[in-house]
This record gives sequence, C-alpha cells and structure tokens, in this order.
Amino acid sequence: MSGWLDIFLQPRCPLCRRSTPVCFCLDCDRAINACIDRQIDHTSLGIPLFSWGIYDGILKRSIAACKYENQPKIAQALGLKMAQAWQEGQFNRSGITVVPIPLHSERQKIRGFNQAEVLARSFCDRTKIECSPQLLARTKNTKPQIETKSKQERAENLSNAFIAQKPTRKSDPIWLFDDIYTSGATVREAIAAFKAVGIKVGGAIVLAKPKT
Ligand SMILES: [Zn+2]
Repeated sequence: MSGWLDIFLQPRCPLCRRSTPVCFCLDCDRAINACIDRQIDHTSLGIPLFSWGIYDGILKRSIAACKYENQPKIAQALGLKMAQAWQEGQFNRSGITVVPIPLHSERQKIRGFNQAEVLARSFCDRTKIECSPQLLARTKNTKPQIETKSKQERAENLSNAFIAQKPTRKSDPIWLFDDIYTSGATVREAIAAFKAVGIKVGGAIVLAKPKT
C-alpha cells in the first residue's frame, strides 16, 4: 500500500516527469550540467558579465518550462547551480548587492513569480550575498526581449522601462541578475535607470546566454 502511495507522492522531474527525490532526475541533471560554460566577459556594457550556461537545448527548455509551466522550483534549482559555479570559480566575490531584473507587475501577477528573482534569491541564499529586488521596478509592460525581431526593436521596446531607487543606506556595489542575456539591451536599460539616481552598476550575472 505504501509503495503504491509513494508513486503518487514522489515528486517528478519537471522536464521529463520521471519520479525523482531531487528537482531534476539524474539524466536531466547531467544534460543541464553539460550546458555549463562559465564565463566572465567584459562586454560592450563596460561592466563584467558572469554567465553560467549556454542558452540552448535543455537549458533553454528548462527556462521555458519554469516560466510557462509554472515551475519556480526549476529556477530555485538552477540558482543553486549558479551559486556553486560562482563559489568554485575565480568569479567569486563577496561585498556585492544583487538586484534581479524585475517583471512588470501585471506580468508577474499572471505568472505568479519572477523567474529572475527566484533564481537570484536561491543564488544569494547559498552565496550569502544580499538580494535587493526592491531597488528596481519595471514601469513599462514590455514584450519579452526574446520575441523582438531586430536590435532597434529591442532597444525601443525597453527604453525607459525601468525606474531605480537609491539604497537607503550605503550599500555594496550593485550587480544585476537575469535569466537570459541576448543583446544586452535589458541590462543596459537597467544600468541607465541606476545611473539616473547616481548609482554605478558594478556587474551583471545571468543564467544563460547564446553561444557566441
Ligand atoms: Zn528528467
């Protein structure tokens, strides 16, 4: 009887539905780990960008499943993987404050959560870095950047999309945190929003970016 019940109670892998005691089953976990491509880039943004994996294959599917199939636990599990890579790599630095890229409140209401914030909180819990989502808000309900067709459309889609707040007390340098990095337009706009209140962003951390 208890064996029969276990089949129903055992959580399932959000990617293949196989039962597993941890978030991803062994096969999916292995496949996700194969996407790791830890990099720190000095991008055209003028700040260091830490990216954890390649936006393709099972990692791309994981992000989509998280957002569109209501699976925040995927972001929690991936945030821990990012923290592990951060701590193991030469990227590890403390004394920063992480600010996740926000969703517009209407989109967040529909989705129920902001995947970048779930990722960031999980990352920050493990690394003991401060997470301050309240410092940045999205004032414009933009299209997802990934759905825009051209560089110009991406830039227009996002212009003046964010409003930043100065931390109330002197805080550590702010690092932005997002799930996907494509053209850099989102991060660039968030940097501009902080600049408008006199804050210089120190860097950015993202889960995935396309292979260059
Ligand atoms: Zn699986």
